[in-house]
Amino acid sequence: MAKFVGAHTSASGGVYNAITNAQEIGAKAFALFTKNQKRWDAKPFDAKTLDKWFETLEASGIQPKHILPHDSYLINLGHPEEEKLQKSRTAFIDELQRCEILGLDRLNFHPGSHLVKLSAKEKKDPQRVAEVENECLDVIAESINIALDKTSGVKAVIENTAGQGTNLGYKFEHLARIIDKVEDKSRVGVCIDTCHMFTAGYDIRTREAYDKTWGDFDRIVGREYLSGMHINDSKPPLGSRVDRHHSLGLGEIGLDAFKFIMNDERMDDIPLVLETIDESIWKDEIALLYSFVD
Ligand SMILES: [Zn+2]
Ligand SMILES: [Zn+2]
Repeated sequence: MAKFVGAHTSASGGVYNAITNAQEIGAKAFALFTKNQKRWDAKPFDAKTLDKWFETLEASGIQPKHILPHDSYLINLGHPEEEKLQKSRTAFIDELQRCEILGLDRLNFHPGSHLVKLSAKEKKDPQRVAEVENECLDVIAESINIALDKTSGVKAVIENTAGQGTNLGYKFEHLARIIDKVEDKSRVGVCIDTCHMFTAGYDIRTREAYDKTWGDFDRIVGREYLSGMHINDSKPPLGSRVDRHHSLGLGEIGLDAFKFIMNDERMDDIPLVLETIDESIWKDEIALLYSFVD
């Protein structure tokens, strides 16, 4: 089977629990936080935890490439203040190292936020906005280069965003600019979140819109970089730049987009991860997605 679907499962009580929780909902892929996502620091894994992780993983039959760990929400690799930038870079390196230790080959993260308070007038000036954004995107790329240099075997997987606040990564051009400045292209990838894509203004609801959006993706970013997806419907409408997920078929995107995805070879052999809001129906959502495969 070419598609590997799962959800962002809980690792509470130990990272290995994320595997068991994934298996219980019929997942062939999953995402997890390898540490508390709301804290800067974490204890290193102890030997017992690692033994249990590798045992459970092997028994599950889930392959490392179908696991998409997500980093801490505190990290901002484009932070405009030096001290906070350093703190983020150190934490990001630690996150990559934790993946390395777990035998995982990719880490999903949000690119970062420029945090510049633009005036109402500046916000309407595309040139000024691009200037502020590009400066931050270049800092993000530099952060990635530093982190990749200090680690090995784990790909930095940039997630597209809804573009809420000063979050970057809401345009394909943002992802392309970062990738362009990353020295080791074999260790950078992207994760496309369907809710973020949609609220950032990329329509995928009809065959025509879907093909146009993914054609743009291929041309601007490059399909070879697609290393994972977050499969979410959206509460807010197209182009609203607001990040609020919904259960499949209950939001503004609707089910057709997910049918297209399940039959699109771009999404073969990468983790397709639900971050929908009602975990009690994840099992049904996973089964529904598999039922869409022609
Ligand atoms: Zn996401
Ligand atoms: Zn989101």
